[in-house]
Amino acid sequence: MSRDPRYDILFEPVKIGPVTAPNRFVSMPHAIGFSYLMPNGAIGIRETRAEGGWGIVAMQLSEIDPTSDLSGLPYERLWDDEDVKAHARSVARIHAHGALASIELAHTGIRSRGISNGYPAMGPSVVPTLKAEAPFMARAMDKADIRTLRENYRAATRRARQAGYDIVYVYASHDASVLWHFLSPAYNRRTDEYGGSFDNRLRLFREVLEETKEEAGDDMAVAVRFAVHEVSGPRRILNTGEGRAVVEALAEFPDLWDVNISGWSRDSGTSRYDPEGFQEEFTSFVKQVTGKPVLGVGRFTSPDAMVSQIRRGVLDLIGGARPSIADPFLPAKIREGRVEDIRECIGCNFCVSAETIGVELRCTQNPTISEEWRRGWHPERVPKAPRAETALIIGSGPAGLEAALVLGRAGHAVTVAERREEFGGRVAREARIKGLAAWGRVRDYRLYQLRQMPNVELYAGSDLDADAIAEFGADHILLATGAPWRGDGAGRTRLDAIPGFVGVALSPDDAMDGAPLEGPIVIYDDDHYYMANALAADLAAKGHAVSIITPLPSLGAWMSQTLEQPRMLRQLKSAGVEMHPNTTAIAWKGDGLSVFRSDTGDELPMIEGRTLISVTTRLPDPVLSQALSERGVAHRVIGDADCPGVIQAAVYSGHRHAREILGTEPADRVFRRERPMLFL
Ligand code: ADP
Ligand code: SF4
Repeated sequence: MSRDPRYDILFEPVKIGPVTAPNRFVSMPHAIGFSYLMPNGAIGIRETRAEGGWGIVAMQLSEIDPTSDLSGLPYERLWDDEDVKAHARSVARIHAHGALASIELAHTGIRSRGISNGYPAMGPSVVPTLKAEAPFMARAMDKADIRTLRENYRAATRRARQAGYDIVYVYASHDASVLWHFLSPAYNRRTDEYGGSFDNRLRLFREVLEETKEEAGDDMAVAVRFAVHEVSGPRRILNTGEGRAVVEALAEFPDLWDVNISGWSRDSGTSRYDPEGFQEEFTSFVKQVTGKPVLGVGRFTSPDAMVSQIRRGVLDLIGGARPSIADPFLPAKIREGRVEDIRECIGCNFCVSAETIGVELRCTQNPTISEEWRRGWHPERVPKAPRAETALIIGSGPAGLEAALVLGRAGHAVTVAERREEFGGRVAREARIKGLAAWGRVRDYRLYQLRQMPNVELYAGSDLDADAIAEFGADHILLATGAPWRGDGAGRTRLDAIPGFVGVALSPDDAMDGAPLEGPIVIYDDDHYYMANALAADLAAKGHAVSIITPLPSLGAWMSQTLEQPRMLRQLKSAGVEMHPNTTAIAWKGDGLSVFRSDTGDELPMIEGRTLISVTTRLPDPVLSQALSERGVAHRVIGDADCPGVIQAAVYSGHRHAREILGTEPADRVFRRERPMLFL
């Protein structure tokens, strides 16, 4: 297939100071969960992106010295010369595919934790570190600290050059850089030449930028990453005020402006709240102020949206963090005229939650992420099966479709049988809830791929029982039958059924299938992710009076990990949803829910309603698997049917089981590990 000429502009080289990016695609700096402790896994991720056509591939935030302490979170370091080796290997693997390598050097200032390394956090003034609930403060940097910081920036830049990086970043964004903290009138309370006026608060940023340029010499470009607008926080920097003034003051200094919005939760907006290209309204002024190339983000997955921003003079380079996680081959697919093959990020931020809990990167759409080195998984290729066998997959949810894709690509003859008239299982139904339409991409990508394969048959409206499955006689049988929501109230904080729920409460499945809803609706949430609050927002938008009740102190607790919780609460509030956190159900009374305060145990007034929706846990039905076992029919149970979980886990399960069938996975389950070295 040939490329649409409209997209040619995306493949023009872009000159960035002394270096030239081969195209306009930039895989952005972001946490990947491996850190300096597991360099091989991290390099595997970055090399795959270079292979997939990203013109610039970034190293994540790299701390310049031990006083910048994000310990406990998986970041990188460039503290001394010994650290150069791993960086140099990473750069070499990126260069091997013709891409440029960039590094985001940083000192995290008052974002530091100051626990692990024994040095207190430090910043412009004595202020609390940036986690209100953590009992830590930052000390004020004196002139000697500032001198040392500048020297360490210089030294880290020299090391970046030694490692072979093409672009070095001066980072002032996300509320996570000491340069930002000095700039911010909220945190900078100094009265010396580094505090007070705008010029004084900008001084350290300007000095570090000038010195980085000196150290970068004439073969490494210098980028500034700067948040031009703060969406929330005290004494905000706005793109109509000091955000713009910074770009004006430093306009032609850096070789590249990489601009975004702050804090991280808004920069990484999810599809529930922000459409593709959502940062344009904040960043579009930058190109009018500087002649240097401008790079930005906005969860770009569509080449039309990318081209539009370039043609309209908003951006010169298109950055992707999540889009490059979900599809490391996104640029290559556009280049080759295979836009339909793009595995589009669904904007769920499950990847972010992996980072916030400190584990290797995970992605709903891309099960191979983080497995490049340790399991040898490639996002686009699977090994060919030595001989074509048959596989019967029951269920077409995320697990079934992903398993079908892997087995189909390997060359097996695959049949997918789906009981319902539509394919997609849970994602097909969840995508109909307000704000979750992008969930449908999990199905759409896979169905489109499967429909191109002559060796794959898809049957909807095909409800198979054990006899039919046994009779089919496939070499491999996979039950991907999912796990229905239970309606009896047994949840995560209380494992038993709640009186009055059984046979009366609707489950989320009932609600999604369009069960009639009468009068005020009471939603009981002992699940704590998105389902209860998404249903609440959806039903409120349809005109229902809705109350939501949860035993935990806050609603949608896991959404603090996906950075969505504050916006979700605002959404429910403005939709008029009545919220009852810290409230545990006693019983459904037919005309309301009797409840008590979770912390004190005091009984509270009944929450009135006519319809109860119980959003708690899901329970797979083991009957089909048992019936097959009784008949001696070997099979695998995969996805939610094996262990109910998030969509990411179902996709991953489908992928892993299929690879196990191909015989490429370790029989003892022990994958390749990065072993710490003993200095004996
Ligand atoms: P997962 O997340 O593990 O992929 P889902 O719940 O999304 O699971 O999808 C399971 C799918 O399996 C549903 O679409 C359901 O209709 C289908 N299914 C369940 N039992 C059968 C069966 N006996 N025959 C065919 N399809 C089935
Ligand atoms: Fe996108 Fe979700 Fe994957 Fe993150 S986890 S890259 S948001 S699909």
